[in-house]
Amino acid sequence: NKAKKKKASATPKLSQPAIFIPVDRSPEIQEARLKLPVLAEEQVIMEAVRENPCVVICGETGSGKTTQVPQFLYEAGYASGIIGITEPRRVAAVSMSHRVAKEMNLSTRVVSYQIRYEGNVTDETKIKFMTDGVLLKEIQKDFLLQRYSVIIIDEAHERSVYTDILIGLLSRIVPLRNKKGMPMKLLVMSATLRVEDFTDNQKLFRTPPPVIKVDARQFPVTIHFNKRTPLEDYTGEAFHKTCKIHRMLPPGGILVFLTGQAEVHSLCRRLRKAFPFRKDEEADTSEAMRKFKKAKQKKTVSLPRIDLDNYSALPVDEGDEDREAGIGDEDDEGSDLDIGDDPGDAEEKADPSIPLYVLPLYSLLAPEQQAKVFRPSPPGTRLCVVATNVAETSLTIPGIKYVVDCGRVKKRFYDRVTGVSSFKVTWTSQASANQRAGRAGRTEPGHCYRLYSSAVFGDFSLFSEAEITRRPVEDLVLQMKDLNIDKVVNFPFPTPPSAEALVAAEQLLVSLGALKEPPRTGRVKEMEQARLSCPITPLGRAMASFPVAPRYAKMLALGKQQDCLPYVISVVAAMTVREIFVDLDRPAGSEDESSKLTQRRARLTQMRRLWAGQGASLLLGDLMVMLGAVGACEFAGCTPKFCEENGLRYKAMVEIRRLRGQLTNAVNAVCPEVGAFVDPKMAPPTEHQVVCLRQIVLAGLGDHLARRVQAEDILDPKWKNGYKTPLMDDPVFIHPTSALFKTLPEFVVYQEIMETTKMYMRGVSAVEAEWVPELLPQYCHFGPPLESPQPWFCSSSGTVRCHRSSTFFRVGWQLPAVEM
Ligand code: ADP
Ligand code: MG
Repeated sequence: NKAKKKKASATPKLSQPAIFIPVDRSPEIQEARLKLPVLAEEQVIMEAVRENPCVVICGETGSGKTTQVPQFLYEAGYASGIIGITEPRRVAAVSMSHRVAKEMNLSTRVVSYQIRYEGNVTDETKIKFMTDGVLLKEIQKDFLLQRYSVIIIDEAHERSVYTDILIGLLSRIVPLRNKKGMPMKLLVMSATLRVEDFTDNQKLFRTPPPVIKVDARQFPVTIHFNKRTPLEDYTGEAFHKTCKIHRMLPPGGILVFLTGQAEVHSLCRRLRKAFPFRKDEEADTSEAMRKFKKAKQKKTVSLPRIDLDNYSALPVDEGDEDREAGIGDEDDEGSDLDIGDDPGDAEEKADPSIPLYVLPLYSLLAPEQQAKVFRPSPPGTRLCVVATNVAETSLTIPGIKYVVDCGRVKKRFYDRVTGVSSFKVTWTSQASANQRAGRAGRTEPGHCYRLYSSAVFGDFSLFSEAEITRRPVEDLVLQMKDLNIDKVVNFPFPTPPSAEALVAAEQLLVSLGALKEPPRTGRVKEMEQARLSCPITPLGRAMASFPVAPRYAKMLALGKQQDCLPYVISVVAAMTVREIFVDLDRPAGSEDESSKLTQRRARLTQMRRLWAGQGASLLLGDLMVMLGAVGACEFAGCTPKFCEENGLRYKAMVEIRRLRGQLTNAVNAVCPEVGAFVDPKMAPPTEHQVVCLRQIVLAGLGDHLARRVQAEDILDPKWKNGYKTPLMDDPVFIHPTSALFKTLPEFVVYQEIMETTKMYMRGVSAVEAEWVPELLPQYCHFGPPLESPQPWFCSSSGTVRCHRSSTFFRVGWQLPAVEM
């Protein structure tokens, strides 16, 4: 290394920083470092950094990018400001900062980390690891990032939305800094060679940045495919495979890839039971469990009226800097419910000669627990790490010889029909399956056991697509506005969403009150500009912090009124899950089955009618049925049996359970005084609350308002019992299975429209005409002051007010007069 240092200083350049900072490393560390492939490229990397404002570094996972490149920069004197490194995952930010501090023999006051909840950054900090969300928030406060001299964007191949946005932002910040005489360097590091989206992108970098490839030394890994692919129980399959490896194969660590925290814990428990080693260390002190306290249902007295200005919002000064993107934490599906008991494992209980040392690894695991995977396992044991995809590229665990890959990944998805983001387990890509396999060949030749067939692997997509193409844009636009990026359309995305999608998103967000309304008068061109750069409102900031699509976020923001929050959360959770009921329209096979089906259908219809209730509650319609189903199911303990008997999809109900916990935490984070908690035994809403719920639903689904066609308007028989929507020419209908099929209210809002034999509205709720001008003024035209019955009067505040007629925009529906 000394020779290397000499070489580096032998070719001084004018632009080279003046001071060379010596680092005092221990001999063991130094020896280990020298084996890392990235060390061989130090010279090339530093030269490129000196000559270019931006540099891209590609290298296999484990080649030493994350731990070594910050050290190169520090030694070469780039720490005049802070050297900042962003990671999409918290787990990596924390553990890498500890590792680098140790390697450099520096305190954590100098090599520090900052993640959403915690950090150890001081005035002395020179190297700072952080999550991408943290840096984004800092850009919001200081666009030029003046405290930093270098920014390293790590794990760029993951293409997390926040990493993408950061690269876009930094492509502008770096030239600005250089122009102002405060030079700054940008390094983008990726585990794959697929970096064209960053380098060959004129919008991002006018001159393509140099790409430095680090050749990793890797031992061969033998791939073993399963003959068949287990569809459901891959955790069980992983268990059997791990047991087999441990019992039959030579020493070497095992790394198992699963998709989420609950699965990881479940497999750890099974393995520890089968190969007892020591007592379960991480007793479930799940915070969320404490929240399952008994509810105290308050009686509502006041008249139910939802106030659009009364929403849960972030505390004014501290709250929002704490918020961090949830992206990259896709394995942290939350907290509360670790459902399902593990089946008996007696048959796997063997008598292995060496004990199995089982450790979990996932993003939200406490740092002390995470650090264990890097320590040598106790003498005479075999290490077995059960991990989510954090172990795929962000962390390199020493001594792994066997990889067990379930082939799946938990991802955030966007349902274009319901407009809702959710977490789903899907097949991973070939690139990431190969990354996983590669983890077995770090120190010696290894083996990877894939719990799926080679045919299934052949069907995997080659690469994971950029997250930005999988997300709703209104959601994304709201997030960017929350970062004060007002002109989203002009933003240099590495992979841009379509312009139309961005415009539509902006319009929807304005109408939800999340963005400030653009001026309605002025020059055409200026107005057009303004319409595409609306700033965020306080309501928008609150909405941005909820992990659901903006329409539903609006409902959550308004939900605290009249003690409606638990119901709003349940309804939003139920709407977020695609379909909570089993399909009643399944065609029957035989005649015998047909009569059985008819019976079952009748019973299930009966059940839904019961949940819909009568009178006031019936008007909440299908959403009331959902609420009733969630309540009843929770009351019964959410068992598969209850679901089967009552026509509910068990998986959907479990999902709703989890979501309720997650949404409750989100509302509490934004507005702690609400003190929301998940009450499994939720009492039915009062009549007043149902009225409020209908208003809240209207406020969120305002662009999904439909009005029944008036009898005198029915010239064409196709409009019989039909509804008109503002944007469609054809009638839409209430489905025969809907709670409101017979009621046919004049005004309804719907969750979505599905086309089958007709255009049917799903998730229908009745709303009152008089609420529309009040709760959706943005969609209404207001006429001149009315003459009668009481033309003018003074309100308590002394302003002159009057009644005005109102009509619904475009379609011109007459609405009741409102006081203005
Ligand atoms: P890359 O970023 O290219 O994937 P890293 O810099 O993360 O590579 O890892 C380089 C090496 O450092 C790996 O061999 C890894 O095992 C080792 N390493 C990383 N973190 C730790 C740690 N906390 N303890 C021990 N070794 C570590
Ligand atoms: Mg790395």
